[in-house]
Amino acid sequence: MDLHIPAAEHAFRDEVRSFLADNLTAEIREAGRLATSVFADAGLAMAWQKILHARGWAAPHWPEEHGGPGWSISQRAIFAEELVRAEAPPLVPMGLLMCGPCLIGCGSPEQQAHYLPRILSGEDFWCQGYSEPGAGSDLASLQTFAEIDGDDYVINGTKIWTTYAHHANRMFGLVRTSREGKAQSGITFLLLDMNTPGITVEPIVGLDEIPEQCQVFFDNVRVPRSNRVGEENQGWGVAKYLLTFERGGAEYAPMLGIQLARVKQFAACQKIAGGRSLMQDDLFSYRVARAEIDILALEFTENRIKSELGAGKSPGALSSMTKILGTELQQKVTELAVDALGAQALIWQPRAIEPGSTLPAVGPEYATTAMARYLNARATSIYGGSNEVQRGIIAKMVLGL
Ligand SMILES: Cc1cc2nc3c(=O)[nH]c(=O)nc-3n(C[C@H](O)[C@H](O)[C@H](O)COP(=O)(O)OP(=O)(O)OC[C@H]3O[C@@H](n4cnc5c(N)ncnc54)[C@H](O)[C@@H]3O)c2cc1C
Repeated sequence: MDLHIPAAEHAFRDEVRSFLADNLTAEIREAGRLATSVFADAGLAMAWQKILHARGWAAPHWPEEHGGPGWSISQRAIFAEELVRAEAPPLVPMGLLMCGPCLIGCGSPEQQAHYLPRILSGEDFWCQGYSEPGAGSDLASLQTFAEIDGDDYVINGTKIWTTYAHHANRMFGLVRTSREGKAQSGITFLLLDMNTPGITVEPIVGLDEIPEQCQVFFDNVRVPRSNRVGEENQGWGVAKYLLTFERGGAEYAPMLGIQLARVKQFAACQKIAGGRSLMQDDLFSYRVARAEIDILALEFTENRIKSELGAGKSPGALSSMTKILGTELQQKVTELAVDALGAQALIWQPRAIEPGSTLPAVGPEYATTAMARYLNARATSIYGGSNEVQRGIIAKMVLGL
């Protein structure tokens, strides 16, 4: 195996590092350092997207003809690593990672021309209207109904767990347009303006006291028929296409590698019985090594997905695999962090980890976000399609069971 790293890749890494040093402001960096979920402070994440967009780097995974930078797989891996290393906040995924790639694959030329530049620039902030109170894993049972009236659909019903709906000015969502036949064959995929009369958004406050998810109500909401993606009653195919990007488009490995390296750093400072460091404890170092090996394996699979996406293909069931591995590893790494910190992880100080807060943190700085990250990581195996459901998809699509 040739392990030589080409000079061009070193030069690219230097270019990214110097861009980050010049453009990642202290305020935006703090939002990344303090982020305890895949979502950083919405305003600062969008400010960071605008800076990346000005350099043409907001969507490394998009095809060049739609505004991607045309990078190789290794360049994209380097970029993702350097962003995490520099503690840049993660970008809001609903537009760049979900709606954009879906419109590139399934949208009309008019929809692509209108929405894609606005997604890249951050002018539009998207949310995902799939789940309903009675439709989560069993998404096809959704009941929010859209009736045709002239050139419009008129929508009534409700969506729930809609992340950042209170910040969004756009929603991509699924509505029922027929109650005939199989549940999947009566669903339509629509693009909505969140400022349309009849839409009400009620934020839901989470365990961490932050309202991230919302319930959205639709009361005779009129949406032009031209906002439909794909054919009427064929939205299930569009929704599934988008979900492969939601599950497979995320790059877990670079972040996991760096988070685990941090766990190792502070475990090396934690003293255990006999004056040894926690990293010298056989069981703890074994758990770290297991996680390290799994992260490496995941990195290779993610690179395979990036190459499929780069060639304009959908990653299919591979995205279910990385969703399971990435989220379970996220949970393991956050568990290792909490175990390494012991009682220091228990200090509840949400105000101290708000970007811009001047409240001093109690305990070591690296301990302030560990518990919030641990708790938030429990949700990763639920959203984007629960991991049990992903295992079902692999059993069916890959193993033919
Ligand atoms: C933090 C967070 C953010 C979210 N953001 C959004 C968003 O922005 N937009 C959106 O539309 N939705 C969002 N969701 C909703 C999410 O997609 C659903 O929670 C998820 O699909 C599970 O649905 P449910 O909560 O109704 O649980 P259920 O479907 O009721 O599942 C309950 C349990 O049963 C298991 N189960 C269900 N069916 C099967 C099966 N066939 N085989 C094996 N096990 C099964 C599940 O794995 C789970 O353990 C979010 C959820 C969370 C937690």
